[in-house]
Amino acid sequence: MSAVLDATAPERPADTCGRNGGSALQVLGSGGPMHGQGRGSAAYLLWSMGRPSILIDVGGGTTVALARAGVEAAQLDAVLISHFHPDHVSDLPAFLWGEMVTRRRRPLAIAGPTGAKDFRSLDAFLEKQFGAEGAFPDMKGLLSGEPFQLELAAIETVKARASRVFEHNGLRVSAYPVPHGRAPTLAYRIEGPDFSVVFGGDQTGLDPGFSKFAQGADYLVLHAMLSPRAAGHTLAQVVALPETLGRRAAEAKAKRVVLGHLMAGAPDQDEAHVWSLSSMPAVIEGLRTYYQAPILVPSDLQCLDLDTPEDDDV
Ligand SMILES: [Zn+2]
Repeated sequence: MSAVLDATAPERPADTCGRNGGSALQVLGSGGPMHGQGRGSAAYLLWSMGRPSILIDVGGGTTVALARAGVEAAQLDAVLISHFHPDHVSDLPAFLWGEMVTRRRRPLAIAGPTGAKDFRSLDAFLEKQFGAEGAFPDMKGLLSGEPFQLELAAIETVKARASRVFEHNGLRVSAYPVPHGRAPTLAYRIEGPDFSVVFGGDQTGLDPGFSKFAQGADYLVLHAMLSPRAAGHTLAQVVALPETLGRRAAEAKAKRVVLGHLMAGAPDQDEAHVWSLSSMPAVIEGLRTYYQAPILVPSDLQCLDLDTPEDDDV
């Protein structure tokens, strides 16, 4: 297999994703903080048994993408946050505000990393947002279970080992810390009855232990911010070059890779060439140094079926 599916691929209408009673991965935001090509910041939605179940990252644009996908947000069970950079979490207040305004009653699980210098832990982040002395004191009820319960799971990132996050409605979620500069960052693995999806998060790709965590994934979501021309750039010390991503994917024996966090600079930016969207063919070629199974380059709202995955050239 050497298929590359790109953003121009014909796709099913966004608001039919996951509605057939099966499971699907919907890419809500396939971009990064500069929103190259109009892509939203990182966010993914896992559909399970016909329901929108788990939101993975809540970057800018998530709430609009959920609306465009026709998702009834009150059905969501959990939010998994990879790390506390704004392009992964900035829409969380708007998402939770929407749930408060619509008087959600069901509990919502939120998982995220513990803190480090210059980074809040999950609990402290929420306190700074929604506490009585926080940015949105009007939302302080959230921290005491009003109008719905938040079930928080703060996950340690110091030791490179997998940890169980929760098990809910037949989905098992585990986390693994990945290297991303000074930001405590988590990869997540979601195991369903007959599928596995791994979200690599932002990372350098320099921990081979991640390949073990991602072993055999049906879909491995990797963040490809850089083009190969970023080799030697300081950015490559905090996020992976395409070749490194390909190496980890090959070691993991992932059945297919989905690229996310695709980025572009302004055309007149001096360093526009370092970003992935400046040359996706070069990015794919970099991954192909090691990885030969299908690579998908999604557009926002694209729906990837987990029951009958798409591997063919288009
Ligand atoms: Zn990011």
